[in-house]
Amino acid sequence: MHRRLFLQHTGALLAASTAATARAGGLPADFAAPAALAPIRATPDRIIDIAVCTRPFRAEGPRIEAERRFGKTLVHNYGHGGSGWSLSWGSARLAVAMALTTGEKQLAVVGCGAIGLTTARVAQRAGLRVRIYCKDRPPEVRSSAATGVWSPDSRICTSEHATPAFAQRWEAMARSSFKTYQSLLGLPGDPVHWHDAYALSDVPFDQPSPAPGGRAEEPDYPDLEELLGDIRPRSVPVAPAQHPFNAAHVRRHTMLVFNLASYSRLLLEDFFREGGEIVQREFVHARELGGLRERTIVHATGYGARALFGDDSLVPVRGQTARLVPQPEVDYGMMWRGHNLFVVPRRDGILVQAQGDHDWNNEDTRVDRALSEAAVNRLAVAFAPRA
Ligand SMILES: Cc1cc2nc3c(=O)[nH]c(=O)nc-3n(C[C@H](O)[C@H](O)[C@H](O)COP(=O)(O)OP(=O)(O)OC[C@H]3O[C@@H](n4cnc5c(N)ncnc54)[C@H](O)[C@@H]3O)c2cc1C
Repeated sequence: MHRRLFLQHTGALLAASTAATARAGGLPADFAAPAALAPIRATPDRIIDIAVCTRPFRAEGPRIEAERRFGKTLVHNYGHGGSGWSLSWGSARLAVAMALTTGEKQLAVVGCGAIGLTTARVAQRAGLRVRIYCKDRPPEVRSSAATGVWSPDSRICTSEHATPAFAQRWEAMARSSFKTYQSLLGLPGDPVHWHDAYALSDVPFDQPSPAPGGRAEEPDYPDLEELLGDIRPRSVPVAPAQHPFNAAHVRRHTMLVFNLASYSRLLLEDFFREGGEIVQREFVHARELGGLRERTIVHATGYGARALFGDDSLVPVRGQTARLVPQPEVDYGMMWRGHNLFVVPRRDGILVQAQGDHDWNNEDTRVDRALSEAAVNRLAVAFAPRA
């Protein structure tokens, strides 16, 4: 399946779900929406923060492999595209299994983003003493600027590289991560939470939506989530009387949200409680890793691997999110097909995401405020009275 955009992806997901539902004949054509959805106060003056980061994309997928270098066993764990948070636990388990074969009890982890932190936690739970070395830690890492939803096949590889072997490894990582995320529900601060989410569309969901232009550079991505049919939330149509949105077609599904502020803090606290240490340090040359006292190292520098290891296969895919003043009463997410709009009800603000025209291979992390303001204005239109 040809998919250039996350929003298109979501449309495809919903359409696929609709088709599957119709085939199964099992789901009701409609069911009652919550009594009233609190409207989002969508005005640009309510933007409290805009974050930009780059997805560390590799056409062949993340690099998770061990090598002997600099007199060390070096396990690489980087290049997770737009799926780093989602796949982190499964990816960490693969990397730690490789590290454990050395028999060493001390592990260095280079990097303290989604991948480094979860690798460190998995290693601790396997009985290792772990020291993290990193230039930055949350909330300064790129991972902290992510959207924070379960999106395990978002820009994870190109269709060309989605071989059966890759798909099998991806599925194992995704299922392992998903399982761990279910064990993090119901904790103080809601680090992980399920929400309803509404998909809006001007055309029926089984028709392609007119996508905003300008993203022709992106490659084809595979629809790997098809492999997770049993844990993939279903979607159902919502009748016009049951939603406040200014859209002809609306469907509802559920979405797994990571509240990255409290979730990162939880990971750090757990890491320190189990004796973990963080050494703030930037490595300029990979050979500097040879000077670390640990003999086994997991390398999890994300996009940093491009400079550190000269991995030119890493492509930066820029992404920008804005946060509106938190509205605890808004407990649903939404996306509007063809309108370049994705909204997540995070605890630290209503997150509004829109894609830029030139995000592909773009490492410019300067804020484009006009992009986010335009997205917030489109969000206001989504709540305008229906014609
Ligand atoms: C806009 C946007 C939205 C996203 N939304 C989602 C989402 O909803 N769900 C999802 O699953 N994924 C999402 N992603 C993808 C996800 O954010 C990434 O896959 C993930 O952050 C990668 O994590 P990482 O730990 O590999 O890298 P990073 O977070 O970049 O961490 C790298 C670590 O290595 C350190 N480091 C780097 N270079 C060096 C060096 N030379 N010396 C020492 N330390 C170094 C850094 O300081 C940092 O600690 C999104 C990405 C973007 C851009």
